Amino acid sequence: MSPESRPPRGLVLVVEDEPAIADVVRLNLVKAGYGVHVQHDGAHALGDVRRLRPAAIILDVGLPGMDGIEICRALRADQDWTPVLFVTARDDEVDRIVGLELGADDYVTKPFSPRELVARVTGVLRRTQGTPETAPQTVGPLTIDTGRRRAYADDREFALTATEFDLLAYLMRRPGRVFSREQLLSEVWGYSSVAGTRTVDVHIAQLRAKLGEDSPIRTVRGVGYAAERSAAERR
Ligand code: CA
Repeated sequence: MSPESRPPRGLVLVVEDEPAIADVVRLNLVKAGYGVHVQHDGAHALGDVRRLRPAAIILDVGLPGMDGIEICRALRADQDWTPVLFVTARDDEVDRIVGLELGADDYVTKPFSPRELVARVTGVLRRTQGTPETAPQTVGPLTIDTGRRRAYADDREFALTATEFDLLAYLMRRPGRVFSREQLLSEVWGYSSVAGTRTVDVHIAQLRAKLGEDSPIRTVRGVGYAAERSAAERR
């Protein structure tokens, strides 16, 4: 596909081996203004990503050839941070995806509503493409540069997914202020859902694991999360 013929909202690679699901997803994405390339075989997905440079990938976990988890792991090992939205068949797969720290940006569980899936894709792309450029921001030992989408402390740079970066940037732009999970979900992910608040906790846990001692994030019990300047405040 030449750059001129790219659809206005970007190309989404859908890796899904069940034709009926792939069709519904494709139709809904096209209706929403996305270009779509469907791949049924996991073994060809990495080649598609390199060839097509999609704006986002919808990745089924259970696939022939190479499963979704292996595909995502290979991409991230290659320093490819294309946003990935996992589609899982079972709730316990969510724990597996999260536990492996694959750098997934979001996930939905089958059966899902196609409209919900499109909303998630739009949310991921809005976050990754629409972050306003501001001066680098420092909270405690950590600095973020939203223009370059980098997070670093001293000479260490952190490899964050698009969603992790946006969540961190949102908190760090307002140091000391406490946000509820619902607020973060609506502001960072761009949608509201009661079930979705677990997504916030999962991403906070991933951020903390990656940032280690440099994490500025404080849990405010029963309320939510805040970015704090000093180590004493973070406790
Ligand atoms: Ca499947």
